[in-house]
Amino acid sequence: MAELVDWSRRTQGKGVSAPSLTLNWSDLIHFKRTFTDPVPKRTEQGFAQAGITMHHGRAHFVDRTSVQVDQDILVGRHVVIATGARHATLGIPGEEYLTTSTQFLDLDTLPRRIVFVGGGYIAFEFAHIAAHAGAQVQVLHRGSQPLEKFDPDLVSLLVQATQELGVEVHVKRAVTAIERQQDRLLVHARTEEQQYTIEADLIVHAAGRVPEIDDLDLEVADVAREQAGVSVNDYLQSVTNPAVYAAGDAVGSSGFPLTPVAGMQAGIVAKNLLEGQPTHPEL
Ligand SMILES: Cc1cc2nc3c(=O)[nH]c(=O)nc-3n(C[C@H](O)[C@H](O)[C@H](O)COP(=O)(O)OP(=O)(O)OC[C@H]3O[C@@H](n4cnc5c(N)ncnc54)[C@H](O)[C@@H]3O)c2cc1C
Repeated sequence: MAELVDWSRRTQGKGVSAPSLTLNWSDLIHFKRTFTDPVPKRTEQGFAQAGITMHHGRAHFVDRTSVQVDQDILVGRHVVIATGARHATLGIPGEEYLTTSTQFLDLDTLPRRIVFVGGGYIAFEFAHIAAHAGAQVQVLHRGSQPLEKFDPDLVSLLVQATQELGVEVHVKRAVTAIERQQDRLLVHARTEEQQYTIEADLIVHAAGRVPEIDDLDLEVADVAREQAGVSVNDYLQSVTNPAVYAAGDAVGSSGFPLTPVAGMQAGIVAKNLLEGQPTHPEL
């Protein structure tokens, strides 16, 4: 939708005339819910038809091949860890005032002044939508180049297009604290030279994600991990417990944390488990 508005603005004076086309945030979120809300029920029905039982709750290991979900102990010949990622803990005062990406995509109305902490693809994607919906947007990035893993030439073009949209993109800005004062939020940040403060109505956490494996009790199952996720061999099998596999954002060496990568890895794990013919992601 933001792309549609952007196209119409960029074609003004070139034969297309729709000068007041804007993005209506409330309508957009309402529309989004029409196709996201039915997904859990539909997925669960599909699982039931395929003979897959679903348990709701947080799972953790109780031995090498068993996990507990609430009061149920589930014993498997194999266990697949596919717990994804969560927002990184920043360890700054007032962190609890940050809005997560999930909460952002569920806002009924969009506040006027929005600050994104972190300059990755989530910040840029959301910043463009928010700016098209009329918000005043700032992106604060700690490093010297946003979207560090991406091609620098393409990133410069994106930053330029983002600034032309009215979004302020600031690099070398480390957010040191968040403060709530009545109906406004304050972002305390520092550059290399000085400390300063920005007022905002909403501050969004876009400062990185980490594998969601801390409360899985991996040590009980002898499943080794590294900072980036579960340690696996070429076949996505735990390097310390061959009964355990992992796929997606929870994997240490998965490369880009993206949906197609997670889907591809899930297919490989399923093949390795069901067909018993070791396959690895490069094949
Ligand atoms: C805002 C945002 C935008 C993104 N945009 C894109 C994009 O445009 N393109 C793209 O390719 N990727 C995008 N991604 C990344 C993509 O969402 C992930 O790479 C992908 O979802 C990873 O899939 P997964 O199955 O590993 O984990 P997830 O999809 O995160 O699923 C993991 C599930 O496990 C559950 N879980 C966690 N711990 C436990 C536990 N202990 N017990 C039981 N359940 C648990 C979680 O609640 C979650 O439901 C985006 C991510 C975010 C946050």
